[in-house]
Amino acid sequence: MRVLGIETSCDETAAAIVERDELGYGTILSNVVLSQIEEHAPYGGVVPEIAARAHVEVLDRLIGQALHEAHLTLNDVDAIAATAGPGLVGGLIVGLMTGKAIALASQKPFYAINHLEGHALTPRLTDNIEFPYLLLLVSGGHTQMVLVKGLGDYERLGTTIDDALGEAFDKTAKMLGLAYPGGPEVEKAAMLGDSTRFSLPRPLKGEERLDFSFSGLKTAVRQLATSLEPLSQTDVNDICAAFQTAVADTLDDRVARSLMRFRETFPVVDHPVLVVAGGVAANKVLRSVLQQLCDKNGFRFIAPPMALCTDNAAMIAWAGAERANQTPPDSLNIAPRSRWPLDMYSAPLIGAGR
Ligand code: ATP
Ligand code: MG
Ligand code: FE
Repeated sequence: MRVLGIETSCDETAAAIVERDELGYGTILSNVVLSQIEEHAPYGGVVPEIAARAHVEVLDRLIGQALHEAHLTLNDVDAIAATAGPGLVGGLIVGLMTGKAIALASQKPFYAINHLEGHALTPRLTDNIEFPYLLLLVSGGHTQMVLVKGLGDYERLGTTIDDALGEAFDKTAKMLGLAYPGGPEVEKAAMLGDSTRFSLPRPLKGEERLDFSFSGLKTAVRQLATSLEPLSQTDVNDICAAFQTAVADTLDDRVARSLMRFRETFPVVDHPVLVVAGGVAANKVLRSVLQQLCDKNGFRFIAPPMALCTDNAAMIAWAGAERANQTPPDSLNIAPRSRWPLDMYSAPLIGAGR
């Protein structure tokens, strides 16, 4: 089965074609992503109105390009999948309406996909992983630890109670005068810095619950930066190093607890797996913390290729292919949902979105 996937929930416009064979193995036939980073960079973050307009301008061309690169026409595609939420509603409308229109015009089944489910199922596309497994999703908009028990069966073990981790990187960068998106800039500066000069808080470290919190860390960075003004390059590097070390230490504690929880929940799983997804997964220091944690606890660590960790449409097409194998198509009455937690997966989608 071949599925055309469409993704427009944030600041990437994306279209892809993925094939799923009868044994459940996936192949990416094309995966086209156009990032809007340059359009949002002057504002230091994603501007919803600009994002929606940019999606409208390029989506049909990108879909054509995805078909072209796969050497296919629409006739060769068996189903259409589009992200229906969560995300910025203006962008979601663009992708969802386009997907529905193509499905209607070509009389093909349509699947409305939860963006987070796309991230959650990616390791089954790249590594053919069996359920259940653990997913750590760390992006600009999300920070969640999810128990992926089966298709459509997700339990959120913990989430951020304030800022997303990528957001904390972006805000830290902004306070220090570094460019947007901040994650890569902070990582670069941290490499040159001394992580022992300043000590920053490790929010929720040691607590039983599996949640995350980053706003206290962000505030501590602001206070530190203000107290040092004007900042030298060395100050910036040292603050970045202290920030990244605090994040690594916090992740180490929070994720270790989730690995324990997984063991308690599934004592008979012989080869447990932790998967990381989201743009923050690009960070080499954080990756190595997760790798070591997994090695220590007997987990296999999977970090999909970066292009599939960040927002893309291959994951949406793949989620559509997995759904098509098990569930009937969705109604074309489905509305976009700006909020749509993964564990409310089976909540009714039809009717007014919000
Ligand atoms: P969503 O949250 O809807 O999945 P998004 O566009 O906010 O989408 P991604 O595109 O997955 O998220 O990731 C972008 C985020 O990843 C940004 O916050 C960026 O700063 C962060 N990031 C990218 N590279 C790094 C890095 N090397 N270190 C830390 N953070 C990084
Ligand atoms: Mg993005
Ligand atoms: Fe995402």
